[in-house]
Amino acid sequence: MIDWARIHKKGLFIEPAQAYIDPPFASSCALITHGHADHARAGHKHVIATTQTLDIMALRYGADFAEHKTALDYGQSVQVRDVMVTMAPSGHVLGSAQIILDYQGKRLVAAGDYKRKADPTCAPFEVVQCDVFVTEATFGLPVFRHPDPHQEIEKLLSVHRLFPERTMLVGAYALGKAQRIITLLREAGYNQPVYLHGAMQKLSLLYEKWGVSLGNWQAATADISLAGKIVIAPPSAFGTSWMRRLHDPLICFASGWMQVRQRAKQRGVELPLILSDHADWDDLLATIEQVAPKQVWVTHGREDALIHACEMRGISAKALSLIGYDESEQ
Ligand SMILES: [Zn+2]
Ligand SMILES: [Zn+2]
Repeated sequence: MIDWARIHKKGLFIEPAQAYIDPPFASSCALITHGHADHARAGHKHVIATTQTLDIMALRYGADFAEHKTALDYGQSVQVRDVMVTMAPSGHVLGSAQIILDYQGKRLVAAGDYKRKADPTCAPFEVVQCDVFVTEATFGLPVFRHPDPHQEIEKLLSVHRLFPERTMLVGAYALGKAQRIITLLREAGYNQPVYLHGAMQKLSLLYEKWGVSLGNWQAATADISLAGKIVIAPPSAFGTSWMRRLHDPLICFASGWMQVRQRAKQRGVELPLILSDHADWDDLLATIEQVAPKQVWVTHGREDALIHACEMRGISAKALSLIGYDESEQ
């Protein structure tokens, strides 16, 4: 199949490019799928990513986060040693990309994190046929089926109407989820200002710079009353003095994991919102069928069920962790 890509030192190593995809360590050449911190780390010498992802990394790590940067638009290619590298949208967050690698007549697509549900804050996932498709499996179990996001936002708004005095405090990740919630609120006709915790303000400005309109949003600072308002804050703000300032907040949390009741309980969430930026089980399988690869490599989550489902469909599949060297060797 393809023997020029393998796991090496816990990163997906592309030998003829001498580059890693989303390496969890500082490397000399990194191909980065998107700006979430577990994929886009600091300290690489050369980073190849979409312009938006480079922007996000600069915001996080400072403008000089890498000695050398190569910015690619979707559909644009660059030759990295002997490999042609092309980016295609993955529908996950602003700037998120699948990395297409062409070498000696074979094509590998590393999808990174992706979703198939419509999201006006980023370009939609593009189906790219290939020999090897590297897929995530964050929600790779048949029990994971994400509901319609509009329905979840309707839930939020109807509870808000029931308790007009309370602060609706929505926990959400600062990159992607927060901005998606705002656009969903706007689509549902909510035109009031939305209040943002400090951790998500710069990223929201960056989204606006890239043409995503978020309507009226304001900083959730100490000097304004947030009673009766919708406030979005990252999980890291929960339990801090910032949160204790809020009067009688109604705690919501937006995540794909909210369909696991236990997780919602642990976080003390009154109103779980099942809103995910990852493909659910049905979308993982539909995507694999459309991409029609000869082989699937599964990473990032529950591998066994998805491998089994691929094999049932006559597609060979492996856990990515099994491809390459034994990690303990070096
Ligand atoms: Zn991600
Ligand atoms: Zn991820």
